[in-house]
Amino acid sequence: MRFGPAARRKTRRATVGGVAVGGGAPIVVQSMTNTDTADVAGTVSQVLALAAAGSEIVRVTVNTLEAARAVPAIRDRLATKGCSVPLVGDFHYNGHKLLAQVPECATALAKYRINPGNVGQGRKRDEQFAQMIEAACRYDKPVRIGVNWGSLDPALARQMMDDNARLAEPREAAEVTREALIVSALDSAKRAVEWGLSADAILLSAKVSNVQELIAVYRELAQRSDYPLHLGLTEAGMGSKAIVASTAALAILLQEGIGDTIRISLTPEPGGDRTREVIVAQEILQTMGLRAFTPLVTACPGCGRTSSTFFQELADRIQTYLRAQMPVWREHYPGVENMQVAVMGCVVNGPGESKHANIGISLPGSGENPVAPVFVDGEKTVTLKGDRIAEEFQAMVDTYVRSHYGRPAQHTADSVQDQRP
Ligand code: SF4
Repeated sequence: MRFGPAARRKTRRATVGGVAVGGGAPIVVQSMTNTDTADVAGTVSQVLALAAAGSEIVRVTVNTLEAARAVPAIRDRLATKGCSVPLVGDFHYNGHKLLAQVPECATALAKYRINPGNVGQGRKRDEQFAQMIEAACRYDKPVRIGVNWGSLDPALARQMMDDNARLAEPREAAEVTREALIVSALDSAKRAVEWGLSADAILLSAKVSNVQELIAVYRELAQRSDYPLHLGLTEAGMGSKAIVASTAALAILLQEGIGDTIRISLTPEPGGDRTREVIVAQEILQTMGLRAFTPLVTACPGCGRTSSTFFQELADRIQTYLRAQMPVWREHYPGVENMQVAVMGCVVNGPGESKHANIGISLPGSGENPVAPVFVDGEKTVTLKGDRIAEEFQAMVDTYVRSHYGRPAQHTADSVQDQRP
C-alpha cells in the first residue's frame, strides 16, 4: 500500500517575480490583502505582515485608477523596507484599461490575475482579454487565468447549458457548470498562447466554494492541461468552518499530487489578523509533510488528568514563540523549521510523545509529583520544577536550536540572542 502523497503532477514551470511555481518547485503559499490598494501606507503595512508570516506571493486588488497608481508606490515602499515579495494584480472588468493607462503599475506587478468571466461581454470580451494578454507580453509578465463559479463567463455558460438541453440524455446542471469552468480556463489559456503569450507564463485556477465540486474540477483540469495550478476554495467562510472546508478540499488534491500554489480564503473575524490565512496554508502543507515552515508543537488535548490550564498556556506560549522567531531563525538556523516540540499534559502519553519530539516536556497531571521531565532527542535530560518551568523550557528550546541548527555568523541588534526573554 502506498504511503504518503502521490508524485506531483508534471507541469510547466512559471516564474512569478523570481518565485518558481510548478515544474516540481515547492508548493508556494500566497495570500491577498483586504486593504484599499489606493491606501499605500495601509497596503504596505499589510503586505509586510503577510510576507513576514511567510506569504511568498501577495495579491492586491487593482480596481480603480487610484489603486493602479498606488501600486508602484507600494512596490517602492516595500523595497525600502527590504521586502521583495512579488505583488500580483487582481483585475476585473477594467484591467485592460488600467494596465494601458498606468504602465508603471503594469511594470511593478509580478503577475496579472485575469478572470475570463469579468473581462467584458460580447465582442468586447475577446478584445479586452486580448489587450490584457498584450500587456502581459509587452511587460513580460505571467498571468493567472482564474475562473470562479461566482463569475463564470455568462455567454459560455448559457451556450453550454443550451447545448446540453438539446442532448438526448442531458447531463446534470452542476456537471455542465463544472465543465464550463474548465472550458473557460482552458480556452482562455489557448487564446492567450495564440495571441503570443508563452505557455510557460500561464497558471490556471478554477475556484468554487463547494468541497466536492472543487475536487472534481481540479482533477479534471489537472488531467486536461499541464499548466501550474493555483488551488483555493473560494468564499470558504469564517473560522473553523473555513479552515476545515479548505483543508478537506486541498488535502485531497495535494495528496493526489495536484496543486502548485495555494491560498486559503478566510473571511477574517472583525478586527482579525489577515496573516491567519498564511499560517493555515503553511500548516496544511507542513502537517501533510509537503513542506516545512515553522517548528510545530505537538500538544495533547488535555483531559481530566490535567485540570490546570498551565500546559495549554505553555503549548500556546511555545508555538507563538517559535513562530515569532522564524524570520530570524530562518536566516541563521537552516533546517530549524523541521524541529518538533512536544508539550504534554501528564505522564500517560507525556514521556512517550516527548521522546518522539526533538525536545519535549511532560507536565505533571493532577495528583502527580509536581515535576516536569524534559526529553532532548529522546533522552530525559533534566526535570524542571517550581514557578519558572515555562521560562526554563523556552530557554532550553533556544539552546537546542542554537546547538543543533548551527551558530549565527554574528549577532545583530535583532538577533535571536537579543530576543530571548
Ligand atoms: S497526555 Fe495525559 S493529560 Fe494529555 S490527554 Fe493524555 S491523559 Fe490527558
